[in-house]
Amino acid sequence: MTWLFKTNIPVDVRLSFVRALYGNRETLWFGLAAHLLTCAVIYLKTNDTVFLGFAGLFALFTSIRMLDMYLFDREDFSKLSHDKINRWELHYLIGACAICLLLGLLCFYSTYIISDSFAELASLAVLLASVVSIVGRNYASRNAVVMMSVCALLPVLAGFVLTNSIFHIIIGALLVPYFLSNIQMANGLRQSLFAAVMNERRLSTVVSRFDSALNNMPQGLVMLDGRAAIAVVNKQVRDMLNISQNISLLNRSFEVVLRYCSKHGLFPREELDNVRMRIDDLLEGRRQRDVFQFGDERYIEVMCNQRREEGAVLIFDDVTGRIEAEAQIQHMARYDGLTGLPNRFYFETLVRSLTTGNKPDDLVALAVIDLNHFKHVNDTYGHHAGDELLRQFAERMAGLDPQRFVASRFGGDEFVLFIQGIKNRAHINTVMDEVISFLCGVYEFASQQIYLDISAGVAVDVTKNLDLRGLHVNADLALYEAKSSEHDRWVAFVEAMDTKYRSRQKLKNDLREAVNAGSLTVVYQPIVSLNSLRIVAVEALSRWHHPQLGPIGPADYIPLAEEMGIITELTQFMLRRACEDCASWGHKIGVSVNLSAIDLKNNGIVDMVVDALQKAQLPSYLLEVEVTESAIISDRLKTCEMLQKLKNSGINIALDDFGTGYSSLSYLNTLPLTKVKVDRSFVRDIVTDRRAFMLLRGVTQLSHELGFGVTIEGVETEEQLKLIRGTGGADLVQGFLLGTPLSAAEINAQLEQSLTITPKGYKVTAETDGLSSF
Ligand code: C2E
Ligand code: CA
Ligand code: CA
Repeated sequence: MTWLFKTNIPVDVRLSFVRALYGNRETLWFGLAAHLLTCAVIYLKTNDTVFLGFAGLFALFTSIRMLDMYLFDREDFSKLSHDKINRWELHYLIGACAICLLLGLLCFYSTYIISDSFAELASLAVLLASVVSIVGRNYASRNAVVMMSVCALLPVLAGFVLTNSIFHIIIGALLVPYFLSNIQMANGLRQSLFAAVMNERRLSTVVSRFDSALNNMPQGLVMLDGRAAIAVVNKQVRDMLNISQNISLLNRSFEVVLRYCSKHGLFPREELDNVRMRIDDLLEGRRQRDVFQFGDERYIEVMCNQRREEGAVLIFDDVTGRIEAEAQIQHMARYDGLTGLPNRFYFETLVRSLTTGNKPDDLVALAVIDLNHFKHVNDTYGHHAGDELLRQFAERMAGLDPQRFVASRFGGDEFVLFIQGIKNRAHINTVMDEVISFLCGVYEFASQQIYLDISAGVAVDVTKNLDLRGLHVNADLALYEAKSSEHDRWVAFVEAMDTKYRSRQKLKNDLREAVNAGSLTVVYQPIVSLNSLRIVAVEALSRWHHPQLGPIGPADYIPLAEEMGIITELTQFMLRRACEDCASWGHKIGVSVNLSAIDLKNNGIVDMVVDALQKAQLPSYLLEVEVTESAIISDRLKTCEMLQKLKNSGINIALDDFGTGYSSLSYLNTLPLTKVKVDRSFVRDIVTDRRAFMLLRGVTQLSHELGFGVTIEGVETEEQLKLIRGTGGADLVQGFLLGTPLSAAEINAQLEQSLTITPKGYKVTAETDGLSSF
């Protein structure tokens, strides 16, 4: 059947064409009435009952068509197919062609069979009238128009031709172009219909796409027409502005939206004018975007790219997330994450803005504050407790009058306080005392109570010279003084500190150079056997002869080297030199090298010792290292592990300056030590003070009984030596009486000589036996 129907047009378009055929049913009833009337009138004129038969057929065919139309109406067109449409079009064609054929036959009968001129005229008239409705009703189907025309025309022409009357034939010939022009007309109408249907179809596609784009975009959109009335508004705008779907917005002024929002609390009523002005700025192109803050903590950005005259488009975007993130980032860039105090960068800005109203000579101050023993809090209670303490401390700082103070955390436990409103230089004392007593005190957290003490350094200047960095450097120097002072919690900066700082910096540089160049020297102080007074070993002591300042004592530069992080290099130098020199003495005596607390935290120290022994080819039993109690206490587990490794490699370990630290004797017992060196403070008064002697004797005997070798340091007089001999338990002695520190060559020379007693003191000589007890 497809040969009959064009199926290359979309099925829904065809359906609308077929619907057009089945529509407009009144004309059918009118047609039927006209056909029946004509047949009846001709019958009256001719008395020929055939016309009654025609009338009956017209009634029958029209009824069948009506039934068909009724069935068409009940058809379910939700599942469309060309086949289904073809079937209905065919039904229609058969019905319509049957009526046309009947009309044609009516003419044929009137013209040729009975040749009654009234019948002829009446039947031709009703046929021609019906032909008009062929175009009017059926233009939507080309098939219908052509086939109906053919069905109607052929019997008429046949009748005219068969009459053999030239006039009939002429009329018949004239009917042909009439029919053709009808077909033509129908074609034209159909094309217009087709174009209209297709356009509507395209338009509805565009509309539905536009609609789904509009309602699926994340932003809200309002389009205003040239009169500033709302032409388009999507669902998102309603959602964002909490406008109910029931409220019609189309064709209303945008003002309605603004009023609605203010009425429903999105922004306060008194803001309405301001919001209106800002929206106007957008519509007039004075701004491209603006962010509105709503009462419910939301931020809506409104953008407008097109001017009002062209029909403006306003895009609404909920930027709450972005604004909050930006605020968060800005907060993070300005405030310390742990304490919430301004960080160092924002601190400067705050200080600048606080001091803008100052007179040039107004005094301002900067205090650098350090929490005393904060490391201890961290070590003892854990980092969480440390953090909590910092937070609470910051909270107290933040409680200071913001008109006079700016507090900041610069990192770690370093806090900085800017102070203004200082009446005179003496007034800073009162202010600082107040601040410190406000900040110090008991802090409570996690069911702990901690008394927090602080140290501070303060630098003062006038506003016109305000240089925060410079003040900070000076306050830092003052803090350094405060920390090393026993009774001052805070110290104000004075120029002398700067001079001292500079010379200290220079000394540090010089020390670094000296260590790098290996220009330190080593001297050796004899350690002698108490029994034989022979040299058993020597202690290597470093010496620094500064080119300008002369000799500088190790008590001054060893802490510097530790602070600068170059003590390991110094120790390595000492180990190498001591091992080399000791090897050059022919393995007659041992050597002892001092280690710093920092060395014992360094995993490389064991390798360094082994390396020095190997390089000098010195047996490990001839080397001893000396460590102080404080070095062990500061990180007991780690240092014990290192000492054990050193001991395992065969070298001796002496506890230096014993008695000056805080370690208990029971704790001593657990350490991998071979020897104890009793500090010289135990020796100093033994001659004059009996109790001091008893103390020395107790310490010596106890250490001896714990299985340690015992060396007594700082023996300066014969009386002391005599008393020490009486203590029992000491093996070795060391002190100026028995030998001051000497160069390697001098030690070597001494080893050659034999023991002689001089009036000034004892001359000692080497003892090569019993070195293993060294
Ligand atoms: P220390 O380890 O207790 O060294 C002994 C110190 O006591 C030496 O001072 C020595 O000259 C001094 N001394 C010796 N006998 C007597 C005496 O009878 N009476 C008095 N009053 N003092 C005596 P020095 O050389 O000034 O060393 C001081 C400290 O510097 C040393 O104390 C040691 O802790 C440290 N030190 C020296 N050289 C080094 C080194 O190379 N490395 C490390 N880490 N520390 C070193
Ligand atoms: Ca020592
Ligand atoms: Ca010592």
